[in-house]
Amino acid sequence: VIQICLPLNSLGFVFRQTRDAAVNAEKMLRLLEQKPEIGEAAQAADLAVSRGEVRFEHVDFGYEPNRQILWDVSFTISPGGTVAVVGGSGSGKSTLARLLFRFYEVGGGRILIDGVDIREVSLRSLRAALGIVPQDTILFNDTVAYNIAYGRPGVSLAEVIDAAKAAHVHDFISALPNQYDAEVGERGVMLSGGEKQRIAIARAILKNPPILVFDEATSALDTRSERAIQDELDRLAKTRTTLIIAHRLSTVVDADEILVLEHGRVVERGSHDHLLRQGGIYAQLWQLQRQQQEVERAERGLATQQ
Ligand code: ATP
Repeated sequence: VIQICLPLNSLGFVFRQTRDAAVNAEKMLRLLEQKPEIGEAAQAADLAVSRGEVRFEHVDFGYEPNRQILWDVSFTISPGGTVAVVGGSGSGKSTLARLLFRFYEVGGGRILIDGVDIREVSLRSLRAALGIVPQDTILFNDTVAYNIAYGRPGVSLAEVIDAAKAAHVHDFISALPNQYDAEVGERGVMLSGGEKQRIAIARAILKNPPILVFDEATSALDTRSERAIQDELDRLAKTRTTLIIAHRLSTVVDADEILVLEHGRVVERGSHDHLLRQGGIYAQLWQLQRQQQEVERAERGLATQQ
């Protein structure tokens, strides 16, 4: 057994086996369904996304008055580009996504989409422009088709099937009794984490938003599902502005910019290669994750020999 070295561990970066996945389950989705605490201007204009640029400018934020969570966070995701955020549990990664969806208002600074402050537009139009693949997708106790079409009432079954094919979940659904009419969730077929996430990807494909947030699953997926999901995500991210909240560094290698968040502050930033050359926190985390993968591979090798 290889010990994870202490200084890295104390950064609080979360690894799969130490993760209590249940803590995070539903977190984002619950937030997405709650009534916004914030109001909007009586005649807020609708957001018209033209290029899809997302910009955080000197954003400060705290959920409570005397506990600041984000400190002076600035970054720009260029139209069609990808920014990834990594950092320990509680460093504020998901909070960035909640602010973008405007579940809370920034304490200082501003968030702009195509140069427009998101406080100036209607919530409906803002949320219509944003899609999310949450960490742990909670499915409704309803049919597979309903779960994929959720958020797009009135779509045809053909469109649902196209989205499922693009998310590589069509073959799986076709093998279910009742196929797209199969009931899922507590009262129906139980799906694995990877299958649920692919349904969430199909949902995002069907919604087709210009801006996408991918909150990476922390729970263990088998390597094959992980690879397939990564491929789908890459395809989705290619054509739209994407914010990735990452738990595995392999997801972020191709991002235009990676932000390392620690206690709500950006402590390192740059491309993967730049950060590796810099030899700081990111480079150490990368080394650690690679070692860990090697251990996992060795353990799998041993298991198959036995
Ligand atoms: P993880 O990797 O565990 O998902 P994270 O980096 O996404 O963590 P956030 O969920 O953004 O972290 O939380 C940042 C901080 O804000 C944490 O200290 C958390 O306790 C606090 N926090 C989150 N939601 C609330 C809330 N609704 N009210 C008060 N504090 C909150």
